[in-house]
This record gives sequence, structure tokens and C-alpha cells, in this order.
Amino acid sequence: MPGENLSRDEAHERAALLSVDGYEVALDLRSAVGESTEAVRTFRSVTTIRFRRTGEGDTTFADLVAPSVTSVTLNGRELDPAVVFDGARITLDGLADENVLVVDAQCAYSRTGEGLHRFVDPEDGEVYLYTQYEPADARRVYANFEQPDLKAPYRFEVTAPDAWTVWSNGAGERGADGVWRFAETAPISTYITCVVAGPYHYVTDTYRRGDVEIPLGAMCRKGLAKHFDADDVFLVTKQGFDFFHDNFDYPYPFGKYDQAFVPEYNLGAMENPGMVTFTEEYIYRGKVTRAAYERRANTILHEMAHMWFGDLVTMVWWDDLWLKESFADFMGSFSLAEATRFTDSWVTFANNRKAWAYRADQLPSTHPVTADIRDLEDAKLNFDGITYAKGASVLKQLVAYAGRDAFLEGARRYFKRHAYG
Ligand SMILES: [Zn+2]
Repeated sequence: MPGENLSRDEAHERAALLSVDGYEVALDLRSAVGESTEAVRTFRSVTTIRFRRTGEGDTTFADLVAPSVTSVTLNGRELDPAVVFDGARITLDGLADENVLVVDAQCAYSRTGEGLHRFVDPEDGEVYLYTQYEPADARRVYANFEQPDLKAPYRFEVTAPDAWTVWSNGAGERGADGVWRFAETAPISTYITCVVAGPYHYVTDTYRRGDVEIPLGAMCRKGLAKHFDADDVFLVTKQGFDFFHDNFDYPYPFGKYDQAFVPEYNLGAMENPGMVTFTEEYIYRGKVTRAAYERRANTILHEMAHMWFGDLVTMVWWDDLWLKESFADFMGSFSLAEATRFTDSWVTFANNRKAWAYRADQLPSTHPVTADIRDLEDAKLNFDGITYAKGASVLKQLVAYAGRDAFLEGARRYFKRHAYG
């Protein structure tokens, strides 16, 4: 598809030209259930982007990968979708200092885990949806500027089948008109926005500590409810919040904290602020080893570390993916050893994560921890043993060299200095 492979140069140019004041995204997901006569099952997505020009020039583009666009309006001016939309980008010209872009589109449900994934449970026929975007699949669900450095606050609203519950990054409520509306997010990147919808089995708890109170939720599909040990998930979650609040001196900044265990997931987990998603393979249907529980706890804490490393402070472009993944990988084992029952987690790190890094480092595909990522195709290849485990091993050496207190003091200053940047 022309324009689907955003380059680093294009992203830098766009970031120099504009800044985003906010998104409003309205999704209608009622088409997820029932019969569909369409060859590709689609849903309506209406996005309003308020953005301002901060550099020279009056032409740019928005990203959207969708089967069809119904209308595009820029500052009240109707643009012809047949002219400005090529399947992956919307060309925008005649930018003013302050701009309002409205895009009304039909987006496709995904069967590949990219964008808005739609799963039909073969056991009971129920439909479950969730989104997965990293590095650049939010544009399959709503029109946007798909690059990590163009952060903005989001307001999502979702119309869904009556029997469903819908979750997003912010806390949500179903209005009298049946529409789910979600609290505006802090300024975040496109790739960590999230929607989860369906008849999920949902368990709640609360984390309390001094003035801090964080509503906790955990969910899975109904068919797995009888196996779901949410108690252990919440135990590790609370131990993690204790640890990160003790050491980061920056209160968890994203409101509530939901954790969804979802079907047909391509990866281990994803750190969407306030709405973390995990593979449902972490719900154990029988007796498993202690190592399996340790792996799950490590993933819970890895994602939680991302709330600070990655979500609060974020790399400008994918070259510096290690700035979040190496830190989260390190923090997973670090917090596991200090705050949970898995006190020997560094042994697991050495035997498992670090061995993965050694293997990756002997392949022709090895690369510096800070990688040269020219475009999104490069970015997709960078989620590997070098970026995660070798980087984490280097950080472990840094902590040994600089000392734990100096290292954490550096992190604390970094969060305060670069929050939401
Ligand atoms: Zn990660």
C-alpha cells in the first residue's frame, strides 16, 4: 500500500511542522456481532483531530489504513476522499495556524492481531474485541499522526452491543444514550491507546497507599473465568505499585489500572496506560510450575514499569526503543526480586533473558542496542533479544557500576524533567 511505510525522515518533518492539541475518537462497534454480508466486516470510525502549525509549510498528511473513507473535513472545508485518501494516508494542504480535521471512515476488524482484533469464541459463540497497535496500527482504527513523539490527550467514545462492557485507557461509563464515554487521557502516543470490548469476565480490586488510590481491574473471556486466579494477579500488581512508588517518586499518572487477558494475542503483553493487555496463555487451566507464575509476574511488572518508562517518557522514534524495553526488562527482574515472592529472579534473568541476548548477539542480525531505524519496516524487526535482554544486561552492569541509588535518582530526575515528553 503506498504510504504505509512511514519513514523516520517523514516523521521528523511532521513533528517539526505541527503539534497535536487533542483527539476525539468515536467508534461504532455494533457491527461486531450478528451476521455480516460484507466481504470485509467493518465498523464506523469518526475522528476529530485538533492540531496547530508550529513550523514552516502548509502541507502534511494524516495516517489511516482503512477500506473506505466517507468524508474528510479540514477547517470546515470538504476534501474529496477519492483525491486525498490513498488507502494509507490522507493528504492535507492549506493548513492554518490552528486546524480541525474530521475523518469519517469505515475501518476493518482484524483477524491478525493488528488494529482492532475480533475473536469469536468457538465454545459459546461470544465475540471479543481488543486493540493492539505497536508500532503503528492505531491508524487501522482511527485517523491520526502515527508516530510516538506527537503525543496528545484522547477522548474515546464507543457504541457497542447492549450486553457488552467497553474499556479504554481512561475510566469509562455508559451514558443514558447507550454510548460509552471515557475520561480524557493524559498526553500519550498513538501506539499505546487502547479499546477492549465484549462480554468479558471482569474482577475488581483497589490499590491504596497514602493518598494514592488506584482502581484495579482484571478480565478474561467468560469461558476462562473458572480458571482465572485474579487474586494472584492483583497481589503482584499491588507489590509492583508499592515498589515503583517507593523508587520512582512519581505517582502512577494514568488513573485506573485494568489488565485484560485476551485471546489470539501475538505477543506477551502491551503496556497501554491504564489498560494493559496480556496473552490469555497466562491464565493457567491446570497445574503449572512455579516458573510459569514467575514468568507471568515478570510480565505484569515489566508492563507496569512501562507506565513510567515508555508511557510517561517516550522515545522520539523507534531507534530508541531500548529506552523503554531495556528498562522495562531490567525493572521486571529488579522489582520481582525485591517486591515479590520470586526473590531469585536474577537467576532466571541470567539463565533465560541473558541467554536469549547472547544467542541474538551471535546472529548476523545483531545490532547496536540503539538501532538505526529508518522506517516502520525496520521498527517491526527491532523487538528482539538485543533491544530487550542485552539492553537490560547493560543496564544491570550500569547499576552495578553507578550504584543502585545513583541509578534510581537518575530515573527520578528523568521522569520529572521529561514527563509527557
Ligand atoms: Zn515491553
